[in-house]
Amino acid sequence: MKVFVVNSGSSSVKFQLFEMDNEQVIVKGIAQKIALSDSHISFKLCKNRESKKLAIPMKNHQEAIDAILTLLTDNHIISGKNDIDAIGHRLVHAGEHYHSAVVVTEDVLMRMTECNDLAPLHNPPNILGVRTCQKLFPETFQAGCFDTAFHQTMPDYSYIYPIDYAMYEKYKVRRYGFHGTSHLFVSCEAAKLLNTTTESLKIVSCHLGNGCSLTAVKHGKSIDTSMGLTPLEGVMMGTRSGDVDPGLIFFLEEKEGEDVASVKRLLNRKSGLKGVSGVSNDMRDVTAAREGGNDRARLAIDIFIYRLKKQIGSYAAAMEGVDTIVFTGGIGENNPEVRSRTLHGLSFLGVTLDEEKNKSIFGESAIISTPESKVKVVVIPTNEELVIARETVRLRNQQKSK
Ligand code: ADP
Repeated sequence: MKVFVVNSGSSSVKFQLFEMDNEQVIVKGIAQKIALSDSHISFKLCKNRESKKLAIPMKNHQEAIDAILTLLTDNHIISGKNDIDAIGHRLVHAGEHYHSAVVVTEDVLMRMTECNDLAPLHNPPNILGVRTCQKLFPETFQAGCFDTAFHQTMPDYSYIYPIDYAMYEKYKVRRYGFHGTSHLFVSCEAAKLLNTTTESLKIVSCHLGNGCSLTAVKHGKSIDTSMGLTPLEGVMMGTRSGDVDPGLIFFLEEKEGEDVASVKRLLNRKSGLKGVSGVSNDMRDVTAAREGGNDRARLAIDIFIYRLKKQIGSYAAAMEGVDTIVFTGGIGENNPEVRSRTLHGLSFLGVTLDEEKNKSIFGESAIISTPESKVKVVVIPTNEELVIARETVRLRNQQKSK
């Protein structure tokens, strides 16, 4: 059974085609710069690692998905559209609806549209991607996984901001959290690696990519997560500040004459690793700059690690204990220094890292704590697309058996 996973962004469509009989990726790629003069599609065949990049004019998302399908057919990866048995969409914001993956219906799309104000950059292109696939594949089963769904189990005292309650009643201003599909996947995989189930664990899941978030997963449920109403809240990230004093916004407005839009740009795009180091949002570049003696690069990494450590500690308190810490995302999977320094000194919590093992793990699943460590520390490469493909198969089978 072949499942086509689609992640439709504002100017790009990422895709992966899975053979779900063995859960193998057949091909993955991205259509980029849609509606721009230099639009192109790159893809990689997983069997022989062959990669291609082709300049293809694409005026909109429909032309992009059409062009992807033509490419897959011309390269004999599929024999045609009918070769695709189901489609799974990566979806961002469903507000307070849906705790798990959904069959995409008009009702779902309507609820997503209602959440456009909460995710203006993500929901409209998500909906466009679904609409396009509905047009191109009118008979094909379609499902979706929301980034917010996994966090719908948070208790009210965790998701309500301590501000005038009317703001929640009027606009649904509250904490939602993101990266839910990733946190769900890595917490389940960590439990498997430890030969147990998530129901018996208190996990702190650390997704450290360009965007970073931590989730407290208690007995299989998200009870708190570091991103909030928007992905700006929480730990320090590549270009986002994470938590700052909200008073800072008024201060900058007054002192610098900044308007709301420029403060928003400052906190979202010119902060984090990039803002502090002045070098880059990429941890590899910042680390290289530090090695070259750049003290602001040193400071950026120190702040990143310090804030991460504080967040882990706060989740250990929130869950009244922790027995597993999971690292994932580009940094979590590939940066032994961040893992080691973040956990340094946490032996009082029961964490003892196997430093040698930690140094040898890049992008693969592994336990990196010592056998004696009370808290197990695990690296799990995230795979949101596989979760989406699996959920699509599950929902399709469920529907068929009705
Ligand atoms: P995104 O959040 O955009 O999906 P990633 O999960 O790839 O991005 O995370 C990007 C971050 O991960 C960057 O800071 C980068 O330095 C780091 N990173 C990604 N891959 C590697 C790698 N192979 N080795 C070291 N660091 C990596």
